[in-house]
Amino acid sequence: MIVVGAGIAGLACARELVDAGLPARVLERGRVVGGRLASKRFGGRYADIGAAYLTADDPNFQGLLDSWRVAGLAHPWTDTFAVHDRGHAADPATGPMRWSAPGGLRSLAEDLARELDVTLGHEVRDLPEADAVVLAMPGPQAERITAVGVPQQWSPVLSAVLTFPERTWADFHGMFVNGHDVLATVCDDGDRRGDRAPVLVAHSTGDFARPHLDDPAGAADEMAAAVRELLGLDAPADVAIHRWTFAQPSPQEGKFARKGNVYLCGDAFGKPRVQTAWLSGRAVARDILSEHGPIDL
Ligand SMILES: Cc1cc2nc3c(=O)[nH]c(=O)nc-3n(C[C@H](O)[C@H](O)[C@H](O)COP(=O)(O)OP(=O)(O)OC[C@H]3O[C@@H](n4cnc5c(N)ncnc54)[C@H](O)[C@@H]3O)c2cc1C
Repeated sequence: MIVVGAGIAGLACARELVDAGLPARVLERGRVVGGRLASKRFGGRYADIGAAYLTADDPNFQGLLDSWRVAGLAHPWTDTFAVHDRGHAADPATGPMRWSAPGGLRSLAEDLARELDVTLGHEVRDLPEADAVVLAMPGPQAERITAVGVPQQWSPVLSAVLTFPERTWADFHGMFVNGHDVLATVCDDGDRRGDRAPVLVAHSTGDFARPHLDDPAGAADEMAAAVRELLGLDAPADVAIHRWTFAQPSPQEGKFARKGNVYLCGDAFGKPRVQTAWLSGRAVARDILSEHGPIDL
């Protein structure tokens, strides 16, 4: 079996296949696993530049989070986010427990990838030959490999990592920013990771990201100014921008799509969340196993 994409969906799929005794090879174009479950090093420290946190309402995914907690890889972060609504502070939003990772969220993908056959730096351009091929990625990326014929709508996001000389803001965990031209969320990465580093990560709105996709770095000043204004900060910050062209899908029906022996899975099959991607990848593996396995090695 060949799984293309080592994001959480591809890794969940491969893990399930291999655990059931069916060999699976994962091909990933990037230099690291994780996809949008992404942590990048800035001055020797990881900041989470993709998914901001994990939430679970599926018992199996919750079980995975609990196992990561026991292993020291993940921890419950907060159930409360500050809210800024059309220029004003609003009541905080209490929601599900949001989980984060002391080593950065990508460390969780690395954990799933342990002992899997993953080839990094391998961009798949043509459909590989295999009993089953799993395209575990946004639909528009899969379309570059083969016509899967599953229309999906995606929005872009720019992530800005702001590293300050010191922490000068009033304590908050994360903030939903509603009705803002530039910002959608701001998270305290030092609080999230637990090391209290003076690092904020802001996510843009899709509308702000769209005209900046060809030159994301050109958005740095505007995003930094928006964060400073929002939090009343004077200090300068080092700013790094990461572009996510396919960041957020509009949810579609089903757990995955299938055309012959080619599968498409990922977070478009439900709420655009890490849990959805994990469940989607696992559902594909079970479909494959229902036809090809499990086998005894
Ligand atoms: C800015 C941002 C904030 C988010 N916030 C949250 C959040 O707070 N909570 C939450 O639950 N979710 C959040 N998400 C969504 C979450 O990150 C995704 O749901 C999840 O990571 C998707 O996993 P995936 O495996 O489906 O896709 P991806 O992570 O996109 O993985 C696809 C993989 O396929 C690889 N690939 C693509 N094309 C090829 C090719 N031709 N050959 C080889 N490899 C290829 C890519 O490099 C990538 O590694 C956020 C996403 C973004 C971008």
